[in-house]
Amino acid sequence: MEKIIVIGGGAGGLELVTRLGDTLGKSNQAEITLIDQNSYHLWKPLLHELATGVLDEQVDNIYYAAQGQQHHFLFKQGSLLNINRDDKHLFITDMNGQDIIVDYDILVIAIGSVANDFGTPGVKEHCIYLDDQNSAIKLRETLIAKFSSFCSIIDTTPEEDKIHIAIVGGGATGVELASELPSMVETFGVCGRNKMCSDLLAITVIEATDRILPSLPESTAKGVSETLQKRGIRILTNTMITKAESDGFYTKDGDIIKADMMIWTAGIKAPDFLKNIGGLESSRSNQLVVKPTLQTTRDDSIFAIGDCTYAMQDNGRPAPPTAQAAHHMAQTCADNIDRLLKKKPLKSFKYHDRGTIISLHDTAQGVMTISGNYQIGIKGRLALLGHRLLYRMHQICLLGIVKTWRFARASKVMHKTKSSAIFTNRNSTDRK
Ligand SMILES: Cc1cc2nc3c(=O)[nH]c(=O)nc-3n(C[C@H](O)[C@H](O)[C@H](O)COP(=O)(O)OP(=O)(O)OC[C@H]3O[C@@H](n4cnc5c(N)ncnc54)[C@H](O)[C@@H]3O)c2cc1C
Repeated sequence: MEKIIVIGGGAGGLELVTRLGDTLGKSNQAEITLIDQNSYHLWKPLLHELATGVLDEQVDNIYYAAQGQQHHFLFKQGSLLNINRDDKHLFITDMNGQDIIVDYDILVIAIGSVANDFGTPGVKEHCIYLDDQNSAIKLRETLIAKFSSFCSIIDTTPEEDKIHIAIVGGGATGVELASELPSMVETFGVCGRNKMCSDLLAITVIEATDRILPSLPESTAKGVSETLQKRGIRILTNTMITKAESDGFYTKDGDIIKADMMIWTAGIKAPDFLKNIGGLESSRSNQLVVKPTLQTTRDDSIFAIGDCTYAMQDNGRPAPPTAQAAHHMAQTCADNIDRLLKKKPLKSFKYHDRGTIISLHDTAQGVMTISGNYQIGIKGRLALLGHRLLYRMHQICLLGIVKTWRFARASKVMHKTKSSAIFTNRNSTDRK
């Protein structure tokens, strides 16, 4: 039986193994195995909500082993280190830190991306990234610790003193995170820290280009800017960061942006170890270069999907690193693996942009792309509903309609209590 290995159970990888398991795995045409460094999946576009305590990871996590049992694939927890293409071997570090070798006939690499600091000095040492569940939880813990220590000195500090948070990157990640922070501090205040309110936060979003959300239409970016500014968030455009130090960011123009907390969300790249892994062709951002069929250019038995993929489109631009593109690639890849096994001609992946919605705490703004050409702007509750719907559609691909409905109900209940619980627990620990 053919061994199909998928590395990475993210937005693209988990949809792919679920599809392959339900078709080729169920009918014993192939043995499907997912390998991921974590034991559970959380949809990455929700990371800013995890970081600010809005989301309950206990409700929204999907455990790979359980998903595999129901959808006919195996799961191994481990990290990909290297590939030997001649022998079709993968070198994996398992969860006990042991190096193991795993054989494959067909391999799919879907390990996503990490923040790109472009080698800016001091960023690694002083900034927090928002790359995965662990970094989101670390960001949440750091925020709570900062709020707690600020509370203990609040009576002795001058009134104008604030917690300064600087976020580099005016893309969707930085903007969505900034919009959630004021409500996080309000919740923290409600939970026994009644001196805390959003006025005590000074949030700055720093963007190198001339506006935030450069990939979205100017009118959407303007609307989002206004919403953020109404919430007291400062936006600095045309501001290039040249280094980070313990007291803040230093700009190309010689200014210092003082910060108690520094967060880096500017740009993405595939993880460094992917660069030319196993002799495969990679881009400047370490992404694996693929043919239209999503097979890597130097090896037809290795596919790549999602953020770690450089898939050039007819418009001369690579497919963007979005959950939407990862979802479409997973569909094409599942189809092509089936075709490869049946020795049928493979299909080409074509990215169709359906628009982008930016969620801004309790509202949202964005554009919907109709028929590939026309864009209509949407905002408010309808846009927020659209953003939520994207997540539910991802869950429907993985779990089906009934389970997704149960998840949605559980999330609704937990949403009302969880952020308070996070802060209340923290407060009770502080009092010990
Ligand atoms: C805060 C935030 C908000 C976003 N909002 C949106 C949005 O609104 N809309 C949108 O379309 N996109 C959004 N994105 C982008 C979107 O999340 C990504 O494009 C998408 O998740 C990419 O899917 P993927 O399958 O390629 O990778 P991921 O979903 O990142 O999954 C990668 C998987 O690989 C695993 N992995 C990594 N390295 C290894 C290794 N060495 N060995 C084994 N496993 C490994 C990881 O544990 C993970 O499970 C957002 C991203 C962020 C960070």
